[in-house]
Amino acid sequence: MTVTDSSLSFPPRLHLARLPTPLQALDRLSEALGGPRIWIKRDDLTGSLLSGNKVRKLEFVVAQALAEGCNHLLTCGGEQSNHCRATAVVAAQLGLKATLLLRRDGRGEVDGNLLIDHLAGAAIELYESSRFRRELPSLLQQRAEKIAKQGDKPFIIPTGASDEIGVWGYLAACEELRADFQQHRIAPDTIVLATGSGGTQAGLTLGAQLYQLPSQVLGMAVCDSERWFVNKVTRDLESWRHRYQGGDDLPPLNILVNDNYIGPGYAKATQPVFDTIRTLASLEGIFLDPVYTGKAFYGLMEEIKKGHFAGQSDVVFIHTGGIFGIFPQREQIIS
Ligand SMILES: *Cc1c(COP(=O)(O)O)cnc(C)c1O
Repeated sequence: MTVTDSSLSFPPRLHLARLPTPLQALDRLSEALGGPRIWIKRDDLTGSLLSGNKVRKLEFVVAQALAEGCNHLLTCGGEQSNHCRATAVVAAQLGLKATLLLRRDGRGEVDGNLLIDHLAGAAIELYESSRFRRELPSLLQQRAEKIAKQGDKPFIIPTGASDEIGVWGYLAACEELRADFQQHRIAPDTIVLATGSGGTQAGLTLGAQLYQLPSQVLGMAVCDSERWFVNKVTRDLESWRHRYQGGDDLPPLNILVNDNYIGPGYAKATQPVFDTIRTLASLEGIFLDPVYTGKAFYGLMEEIKKGHFAGQSDVVFIHTGGIFGIFPQREQIIS
């Protein structure tokens, strides 16, 4: 099946992101590294407060919430979650309410994304990380019941908006990438991204097939193992097939994950990642973050140095955003 088949019909969608985002070549960096030409898909420019990858998924997820008559978005993530921040801002823009259940990963400072969550008027509950990990499904359920008792209609959005509805966000982005590749006359061998809850990778992996991109999709894990991601992406894609009855005649999809650059753990980076952030900022004027894109980009540069991209002429890195994540980690960045 390809998208010319009438069997692929898109579900309801809101237009929240500034699209299409630019695709640009990092010529100075590519020359310094001496490997393939590195291109960057600027999904850090999907908006200012909505910047990053989550808004592409929320276009479909929040459309579904509205279709079901819901007026209160309930979601969850780390205390500096980009997804929760984007959800809070979308809710404010649409006149909806938002409640965020946040996992305490750091000091819980009102900074970066958390500051924006507060300004956007979201109701925020911070949980100790062990309790959050143990009880998340029941915490969400209880909170949804409470919201309903207060007379609102809640819609639960899973971590990262990574579910079968969210898959559409990056499936649709592949139509954009196809046009980008035509415009620049390139056939990139690999599309690289930071993978965290798997939804972006699921959409890109499926979309690359449906839109017949020449590229394989490689997720650089920022938490969890290769096996965890292969399972998660597989499950999201199975749920997508089941719900939307699509893609039955696709060949088995290749889910590629590199989990060698996680470092000490989620939202914890080592000095080379901070150095990578500084290098790209000063060399190209592009800002990565320490939680997702900095780690993934560092991994890409290391893999290029090791010769793992030998023979490839063009590689595309999806800049999934995350700019507000630099502020709570300012001390490591300038040390
Ligand atoms: C959430 C996020 C990712 C990972 O996307 P998933 O779909 O959750 O895997 C990557 N980069 C940034 C900046 C993010 O906020």
